[in-house]
Amino acid sequence: GRYTKEDIFRMVEEEDVEFIRLQFSDIFGMTKNVAVTVSQLERALNNEYVFDPSAIHGFEEIGEEIYLKPDLNSFEIYPWRPQTGKVARMFCDLIDENGNPFVGDSRRVLRNVLTEAADMGYTFDIRPELEFFLFHTDEEGRPTTITHEDAGYYDVAPLDLAENVRRDIILTLEDMNFQILGSHHEISPAQHEIDFVEDRADRVADAVMTFKMAVKTIAKKHGLYATFLPKPTEGVNGSGMHVNVFCRDCLGKNLFRNDEDEILSELGRQFVAGLIEHSRAITLLTNPIVNSYKRLIPGFDAPTDVIWSDNLSDRSAVINVPHRSGDSTRIEYRSPDGVCNPYLAFAVIIAAGLDGIKRGLNAPEMGETTGSNRHLPETLGEAMEAYEQDPLIREVLGDYIFTRYRDEKMQEWKEFRSVVTNWELERYLGRC
Ligand code: GLN
Ligand code: MG
Ligand code: MG
Ligand code: MG
Repeated sequence: GRYTKEDIFRMVEEEDVEFIRLQFSDIFGMTKNVAVTVSQLERALNNEYVFDPSAIHGFEEIGEEIYLKPDLNSFEIYPWRPQTGKVARMFCDLIDENGNPFVGDSRRVLRNVLTEAADMGYTFDIRPELEFFLFHTDEEGRPTTITHEDAGYYDVAPLDLAENVRRDIILTLEDMNFQILGSHHEISPAQHEIDFVEDRADRVADAVMTFKMAVKTIAKKHGLYATFLPKPTEGVNGSGMHVNVFCRDCLGKNLFRNDEDEILSELGRQFVAGLIEHSRAITLLTNPIVNSYKRLIPGFDAPTDVIWSDNLSDRSAVINVPHRSGDSTRIEYRSPDGVCNPYLAFAVIIAAGLDGIKRGLNAPEMGETTGSNRHLPETLGEAMEAYEQDPLIREVLGDYIFTRYRDEKMQEWKEFRSVVTNWELERYLGRC
């Protein structure tokens, strides 16, 4: 590991850290934390910090206390908090009083998949492409979808009004040890993307949590509201989180690379086949809210079809494999959005591909699919059906998360179905 317990004590001392946040994610990808002061650090590092799960969404029925087990390697200082009496955080595993994993810990779900992959000789790295909007807030400070900006893809100032915000976000992320690849104005007004280099999938899931927190915090400092909501504004592109998957062996050799046919190795094709087979079922996890499905429509560069393509302009394909990329050969999965729980989303994406490898599946021709339905689910309700029908999902998530997640989404879908929208009234009331 990167740090020992002694390292943590030393850094806390040297860096003048006063508060340590013990952080974790709920089943739905919301960051939760408890802050302890330095006086309690010893206890925290001995995994003695407990919390009552009954007030955490999705953990209500757990009758026992949960212990937080800090991951020392995830120690990082928040650059946006005061620089004397600093605030640091560690991501935590959730365990019971005997030190056994808690069934509701989504971070654990991802690690289990990666351990299985490692046993087969594979390391999975991920490079996410997170898109987001920067909007104004109203007089009360509440988020709106208003922007004064009119810039588009790769535009610069004076059209791009947020270059200083992006600059600040990037410098902050670099302070937290992110390696930033690049950043640009996205297609829609007020839409942006910042990319960072690939790393092992579990570390990247933590990084996605950190990224979202940093973007929102820095935007707020500039008086703006940053949102990862997939489709905040109708009629323009929404925000996705494309997931680039790299597979390497223990020596770092890219196993998806194939210099002969210039696209993908046999292993890569099997991964694609598995991903295609399970694509509809994993959509509830990669695209978790009602609004996610407003993004997955034709005409806005978001995918709609369960097919693969090596042509970048094939926007409808859920999987894209760029041509001749040598050592950066990767499989880009394009449906996920930034509101997913990255631990669960990465877990099912990798597990789906691994299933293709284990069963030696053949990828369909490009542009073709394997099942009877070549479309991604069009609604949360449709995604839920696909989720329930695929045994792989329950196997990866475990019964507890599988059920709690399903029940929550069922409730959400039921509520949405009961809402009478303005669109319906405008369209029908005067004629019916
Ligand atoms: N915003 C698009 C999406 O929803 C992607 C567009 C792009 O990255 N060029 O996936
Ligand atoms: Mg991109
Ligand atoms: Mg983009
Ligand atoms: Mg992309």
